[in-house]
Amino acid sequence: MDQGPLILPRDESNERLVRNVHPSDWKNPKPASRYNLVVLGAGTAGLVTAAGAAGLGAKVALIERNLLGGDCLNVGCVPSKGIIRSGRAAYDVKKAVEFGVNGGPDVSIDFGKAMERMRRIRAGISKHDSAWRFSNELGVDVFLGEGRFIGRDVIEVGDERLRFRKAAICTGARAAAPSIPGLEETGYVTNENVFWLTELPKRLIVIGGGPVGCELSQAFARLGSRVTLLHAHGHILPREDADAAEIIQKSLLRDGVNLLLGTKLVQAGRHGTDKIITIEKLGKREEIAADEILIGIGRAPNVEGLDLETAGVEYDKREGVKVNERLQTSNPDVYAAGDICFPYKFTHTADAMARIVIANALFMARQKTSRLVIPWCTYTDPEVAHVGMYEKEAWDKGIDVLTLTLPLTDVDRALLDGETEGFARVHLKKGSDRILGATIVARHAGEMVSELSLAITTGQGLSAIGRTIHPYPTQAEVIKKLADAYNRTRLTPFIQKVFASWLKWQRR
Ligand SMILES: Cc1cc2nc3c(=O)[nH]c(=O)nc-3n(C[C@H](O)[C@H](O)[C@H](O)COP(=O)(O)OP(=O)(O)OC[C@H]3O[C@@H](n4cnc5c(N)ncnc54)[C@H](O)[C@@H]3O)c2cc1C
Repeated sequence: MDQGPLILPRDESNERLVRNVHPSDWKNPKPASRYNLVVLGAGTAGLVTAAGAAGLGAKVALIERNLLGGDCLNVGCVPSKGIIRSGRAAYDVKKAVEFGVNGGPDVSIDFGKAMERMRRIRAGISKHDSAWRFSNELGVDVFLGEGRFIGRDVIEVGDERLRFRKAAICTGARAAAPSIPGLEETGYVTNENVFWLTELPKRLIVIGGGPVGCELSQAFARLGSRVTLLHAHGHILPREDADAAEIIQKSLLRDGVNLLLGTKLVQAGRHGTDKIITIEKLGKREEIAADEILIGIGRAPNVEGLDLETAGVEYDKREGVKVNERLQTSNPDVYAAGDICFPYKFTHTADAMARIVIANALFMARQKTSRLVIPWCTYTDPEVAHVGMYEKEAWDKGIDVLTLTLPLTDVDRALLDGETEGFARVHLKKGSDRILGATIVARHAGEMVSELSLAITTGQGLSAIGRTIHPYPTQAEVIKKLADAYNRTRLTPFIQKVFASWLKWQRR
């Protein structure tokens, strides 16, 4: 099957990357007579499953048709966070004057250099996912090629047949394009090739105001593109609290993003070299012209071509492979992990699921995905991080909730850093300090949310965070301040009266 180039441009960094994660001179090994575990797909889920299982002594085969490392390394987390960092540098220089440093608004940005930096760092990171490392250091049989089931316990790759006791489907998901008339002919990029760009699109239309759309809109705007972000809903990041999304909306507008909410996509076309999207908003049609269109909307599971029917594995073309809570498919010897089977499509969930698959498939454990406490973060500036339940979710489950929110303007370090946009919010089970969920909007919210994830995972209440000394001045102090705010709610008029009487008695 001709897949086109694995990655572009063909520079030194990308050559280094490909040498690690899809070496052209790779020779597939001679298969073992039977494997404890055959892993199909070498993204995060597949790599962690294969490495962990082999580390525990299992005979493991790992099959990858494209680049080891999957989306995260090659076309997802790593390159996006690389260019987001360049965008942040540009923004900080523009803002520097506020700190008494003469930067100024006329910053010159070299997009090509920003992309080169990203490629260089990605190539460096790729050594962890390299075919050589997995084969020589970890003892995994690495097969490069397209894998498919040819029986309930056999997978074929190239001319080889790999028999297994257990298999793990970790084939991930890909960008899904919306069905807009004319879009295919007009042409567009997705996360799969936007990081191939070497020149900045002067005008960029981004379709989709979810995490990927928002992160990349802001990064490209900060790097100099005139970005128009089209989103169907009334506010971006629809999963997040409206006031959190509002802060990000303001921040995008400040970065110059033309934010068009509540838009319906009517059609796509071309006028000369311009790519045009026609939208409908409040009953009016409008044409938007750009040099490039970036689709950042929806993910489609990679179920095609796996011959899952042959293996007796049930699936759905939209939802992916069907699994129970223990990640077992309808074929009890076949498991799945990662984006192929889970609604929370993150690298850290793929990693957590891989660990469940190893325990359940190889060691008869009964670990469940429902036990996972899953935080996530959208890496806009400021970031939005969340863990556990949202308030509405708790009420819908019939749980009485006490919600506490503190703005970052109450935090000295945020003031000193000039990073006061945002808040920390925690939802507690009413009448207790049990943390049900939390949302943080802050420049480094992703770093801050782990304290709350730990508390939820280990069943520590907010009071335990209140007893924990936080260094001053840090932005994470906002979480301790939430605990102080909770303690104040416990100071009922009756307790206040008792305290007052006691202190009065001491003064006698
Ligand atoms: C732009 C972007 C930014 C993101 N940023 C973040 C972030 O900051 N943090 C975060 O946690 N998550 C982020 N994600 C999500 C994250 O990348 C995914 O959740 C994660 O990569 C899923 O890993 P996976 O192993 O399930 O699938 P994948 O990484 O998709 O890996 C699946 C692998 O299977 C291979 N494959 C498929 N079919 C076959 C076959 N038949 N034979 C052989 N091989 C096959 C594919 O080639 C691929 O390499 C981002 C995603 C995108 C698109």
